[in-house]
Amino acid sequence: MTNRTIQMNDSLYQYLLSTSSRESPLLKKLRLETAKDPMARMQIGPEQGQFMGLLTKLIGARNIIEVGTFTGYSSICMAQNIIQPGSLICCDISQEWTSIAKEYWKLAGVDHICELRLAPALETLNDLLKQGKARSFDIVFIDADKENYDEYYESCLKLIRPGGLILIDNTLWSGSVIDLSITDVDTKSIRALNIKLQGDKRIELSHLPIGDGLTLCLKH
Ligand code: CA
Repeated sequence: MTNRTIQMNDSLYQYLLSTSSRESPLLKKLRLETAKDPMARMQIGPEQGQFMGLLTKLIGARNIIEVGTFTGYSSICMAQNIIQPGSLICCDISQEWTSIAKEYWKLAGVDHICELRLAPALETLNDLLKQGKARSFDIVFIDADKENYDEYYESCLKLIRPGGLILIDNTLWSGSVIDLSITDVDTKSIRALNIKLQGDKRIELSHLPIGDGLTLCLKH
């Protein structure tokens, strides 16, 4: 028995999936297809997708933003649990990856919910603010380039409603956050945001060791 987060070896991870995963055949197909891509590590795991779907339902989300869509796994997990009529604005800059997402949105029956914005996410977020959409979103999932994480967070904090949730992915960054010999821009950016969030009085905070680290920020 342990009262700190348990070490997750391969066997225990497989057990966790075998007893709790409810991944649909379609999501599995998308995950396996994406696994062939050299950037496959950018895809969230099935247990994280299921958790995000549960959070979407728990908070009663109707309006969501995703910063970084890749091939669509996380967007489908959230869109399938959104209250309808609802919308999920998907920000990405890759036509290639999001063409796979679009194909799977159709197959999952969520293509009327997911709206792709093919542009740098900061532009899309700023446009939404200019359109008067501050405080109107229930969930934001931040999972794009790490260099801009703080700017994404600040924009999203304006766009989210009080009681809304910001989810930030890769906040343990394969453990690089504690290896101070690693000083690349991405790692430094994640470290700085983690420290900032701890003292940020605008939010309630929980940092979960699921996937590559997932930070939950509930806006006051
Ligand atoms: Ca990620």
